[in-house]
Amino acid sequence: MGAGPAGLMLSHLLHLQGIESIVIETRSRDYVEHRVRAGVLEQPTVDLMHEIGLGKRLAAEGLTHEGIALRFRGHSHRIDFADLTGSAITVYGQQEVVKDLIAARLEAGLPLHFDVEQVTATDIDSSRPRVQFSVDGTAQTLEADVVAGCDGFHGVCRTTIEKALTFFEHTYPFAWLGILARTHPSSKELVYASHDNGFALHSMRGPDVTRQYLQVAPDEDIDRWPDERIWQELGTRLHDGDGFELEIGEIFDKGVTPMRSFVAEPMQSGRLFLVGDAAHIVPPTGAKGMNLAIADACVLSHAIGAFCATGSDEQLDEYTANCLRRVWRAEQFSAFMTALLHRPQDQDPFERRLQLAHLDYVTSSRAAAMSLAENYVGLPLVTPWAFNG
Ligand SMILES: Cc1cc2nc3c(=O)[nH]c(=O)nc-3n(C[C@H](O)[C@H](O)[C@H](O)COP(=O)(O)OP(=O)(O)OC[C@H]3O[C@@H](n4cnc5c(N)ncnc54)[C@H](O)[C@@H]3O)c2cc1C
Repeated sequence: MGAGPAGLMLSHLLHLQGIESIVIETRSRDYVEHRVRAGVLEQPTVDLMHEIGLGKRLAAEGLTHEGIALRFRGHSHRIDFADLTGSAITVYGQQEVVKDLIAARLEAGLPLHFDVEQVTATDIDSSRPRVQFSVDGTAQTLEADVVAGCDGFHGVCRTTIEKALTFFEHTYPFAWLGILARTHPSSKELVYASHDNGFALHSMRGPDVTRQYLQVAPDEDIDRWPDERIWQELGTRLHDGDGFELEIGEIFDKGVTPMRSFVAEPMQSGRLFLVGDAAHIVPPTGAKGMNLAIADACVLSHAIGAFCATGSDEQLDEYTANCLRRVWRAEQFSAFMTALLHRPQDQDPFERRLQLAHLDYVTSSRAAAMSLAENYVGLPLVTPWAFNG
């Protein structure tokens, strides 16, 4: 259930193992292919896209970055991923990953239903769970071995099994005001700036489009941010004494996104399995959300593969445990990056001094930089073929 990165990747990995699946999605194809969200692929996600035969456009259009800049006290400090880890990240929009996966599924003639309505999952404690939905006003029922709840944070799957779950949650006292602008990137790599006014991120979606963010209050009214104010504040927070010049252009999209950390445990009940944002949310500072959704899909595809091959539930039972180690690692890293870079609540000067001391450490100690780099470029994925040798 759901044709975001989690649902589409899972169905593709199942297809590669010869396992039948049906994907249903409440939105239109056009909507999911143009929804602008994440844009950073970890190295293991990039490798996976190539391994499953979907890396062609990614190789041509993705921007490989071998480092990021941490900017504070008006100076930039590069974290060199290539030197520290031998890996890199790739800037490639989530909607492009979604387009590649949808194209592959439709090309293979596999079922993918958009614009479905009235979706429910029932009988999940039986060995034949069911999914009911309607397409074009006609009610349908699917009977399956397994239902994968890949329906995002606001989907119905987590609610269906909420009595079996415990929620762990943290809401941050700020949000991100994000823009898309028609400008050349002002820097070859992502810039994470920690300024006394608050955090700013300079990133890009291609050679002609930038994606930039400002830390704002959680209840910020976007109407208080005309374009000139956004550019002025980005200029202030991103300023460095080393010649950085912010390119200004037409802003064609802007919005405020709240920041939260959330994990539902376990990520399963009966034969319903939660995958991606349906089970967990990270603040975007660590660029982990989409990568984590894809990592869950890898683990579940392996478990379903083992179930289909042997009839044993053993790997399905292990699904939560096999996901949670990575999930909590990403939660910790995302919370760490958020605390490291955002203006502390009430601008507490003591907290600010501690933050600057930590930034000094991360940018001067190879050991500290390596830890940040290792987490940022991503830990190895558990793919079905890694298990099967
Ligand atoms: C506004 C926003 C901005 C973000 N920005 C960043 C970022 O800058 N960097 C970053 O790393 N991460 C970001 N993220 C997080 C990242 O986009 C998500 O982690 C990622 O989309 C998770 O993929 P998913 O497939 O689990 O869920 P989703 O992408 O949410 O996909 C779930 C799909 O299920 C569909 N659906 C919902 N209900 C049902 C139902 N009942 N039946 C069938 N289908 C259903 C939805 O329409 C959707 O297509 C952002 C998220 C949001 C919401």
